Amino acid sequence: MSERTAMLPKLMTNARLCGAKNRAGLPCRCPAMRGKARCSKHGGKSPGGPKGEHNGNYRHGGETLEAIELRRQVSRALKTIRSEAYAQ
Ligand SMILES: [Zn+2]
Repeated sequence: MSERTAMLPKLMTNARLCGAKNRAGLPCRCPAMRGKARCSKHGGKSPGGPKGEHNGNYRHGGETLEAIELRRQVSRALKTIRSEAYAQ
């Protein structure tokens, strides 16, 4: 907990809180929307825009969900191979 959030009174809920910062630099203390990291006032309602090549910030595809998942799988496979190689 940061120094700033420690000054605020304890919340009466265990709900995940919105991670946005308000104009005073303090965290938004609204509960985040279900399955999201933001409250409805700070983008929780947004579907997040088009995915993949349809997104305006798309460059080379190296950071698409598919590419990230592929790297994760390769990394996991390598880790397994290494642990088996050094097990003997
Ligand atoms: Zn918020």
